[in-house]
Amino acid sequence: MIAYATNQFESAGAQPPQISVIGTGYLGTTHAVCMAELGFQVVGVDVDDLKVAQLADGILPFFEPGLEELLRKNLEAGRLTFTTSFPAATTADVHFLCVGTPQRPDSPAADLRHLGAAVDALLAAQPKPGSLLVGKSTVPMGTAAAVATRLAAEAPEVLLAWNPEFLREGFAIEGTLNPDRIVLGLPDDPAARARAEDILRAVYASAIESGTPVVVTDFATAELVKVAANAFLATKISFINAMAEVCEAAGGDVKTLATALGHDARIGPRFLAAGVGFGGGCLPKDIRAFRARAEEIGAGTAVRFLAEVDAINLRRRARVVEFATELVGGSVPGRRMAVLGAAFKPNSDDIRDSPALEIAELLRTAGALVTVTDPAAIPNARRRYRELRYADTAFEAVDDADLVLHLTEWADFREIDPALLGGNVRNLLVIDGRNTLDAGKWRAAGWSYYALGRPNA
Ligand code: NAD
Repeated sequence: MIAYATNQFESAGAQPPQISVIGTGYLGTTHAVCMAELGFQVVGVDVDDLKVAQLADGILPFFEPGLEELLRKNLEAGRLTFTTSFPAATTADVHFLCVGTPQRPDSPAADLRHLGAAVDALLAAQPKPGSLLVGKSTVPMGTAAAVATRLAAEAPEVLLAWNPEFLREGFAIEGTLNPDRIVLGLPDDPAARARAEDILRAVYASAIESGTPVVVTDFATAELVKVAANAFLATKISFINAMAEVCEAAGGDVKTLATALGHDARIGPRFLAAGVGFGGGCLPKDIRAFRARAEEIGAGTAVRFLAEVDAINLRRRARVVEFATELVGGSVPGRRMAVLGAAFKPNSDDIRDSPALEIAELLRTAGALVTVTDPAAIPNARRRYRELRYADTAFEAVDDADLVLHLTEWADFREIDPALLGGNVRNLLVIDGRNTLDAGKWRAAGWSYYALGRPNA
């Protein structure tokens, strides 16, 4: 049950702050909808006309469980609007900056063009004096300080804070309304710091009242918390994938190894699932941008290991292609392969840097006839990878297949009856790239079941 944060203002006879959310992609839309759900008046601003029109019509342009219902509810309640007009956002008291910070096309560094353009557009529209600009995008260390310098020169009465976002796709509403922690990077000036903190504590009052820890710090630390968290998670995944490589050489079983390691409370079981590795719009680009920025500020040596984390991750994709090639007898051209999964992870239609699709495309370019299925991500995959074939169901995808590859761990795929699926294939041959299918059940149904980092007898 959500406690309406704005009640506190009403009972105190004050108006709750009005909010703008600049950049209504995955993060921004979720944030805008959740702020409206808390009772705030919210305007979402984006440069993408189509996205804005869809959102204004109550259509969520991406898949996120429960979010479209909340979007519609808050549009109907009149608390939420979407626009491409920055001037429409200037009545807001708090502007959350949620634009994309992708990898640059020509280097591993973060591309801050969208962030710069959004700040330009907001300043040109003249935000209210005393309003607060809150960066939520993931940025390299030093970005907030650079934005602060601009504000000091061009809009000195506008305050700045950096409040990185930790939501996980598939659990975005919960991650926004009940985060593990709230990190507030605040300016050094004591008066500006106190005012920015007051405003943000008011905005996040319901989460804070229900016990969410608040970490108050400077800009650089706030920026670092986000990239360091992603670097840690990526390292944990690559660690177990490196152990999978060792298991393959030593004849060990990485799944049992991970279970045993995870029982150690200092290690814990999460992010220790060996498989085809991480992808998506955050971890890969964030570890690369972190390295690039650390190099620039003279701390490159400290995070040089992230290059190896990245390399281990990419090697898993190459390993699956090699394994698939071996299993079909060394020659891929003309072989029919079914790929279960297109999204970079389950419960999402996000295909950014998806291991499943990269593997599918590598096999296709090697000459395989690859058919991909996914419960949510086919429309996005079709737009980006036009030459792959697509099927609506796993049963259609595996039709006459020489090999099945399980590459995104949707519950739908785990629940498939391997005996029934086996009726549609040419060869009962499966690579479980996520180590989440029930190997015993698949083998009992006659399949030759193979997985990474595990004995494949
Ligand atoms: P996204 O690509 O889904 O959305 C970015 C949005 O910004 C797009 O809708 C785009 O049209 C808009 N935009 C670009 N330039 C703009 C401008 N000048 N003015 C207004 N809008 C503009 O990206 P995302 O996944 O929402 O990520 C946004 C930021 O949040 C990134 O820094 C990302 O690293 C970070 N983040 C994302 C997640 C996640 O799970 N997606 C989680 C935590 C942090």
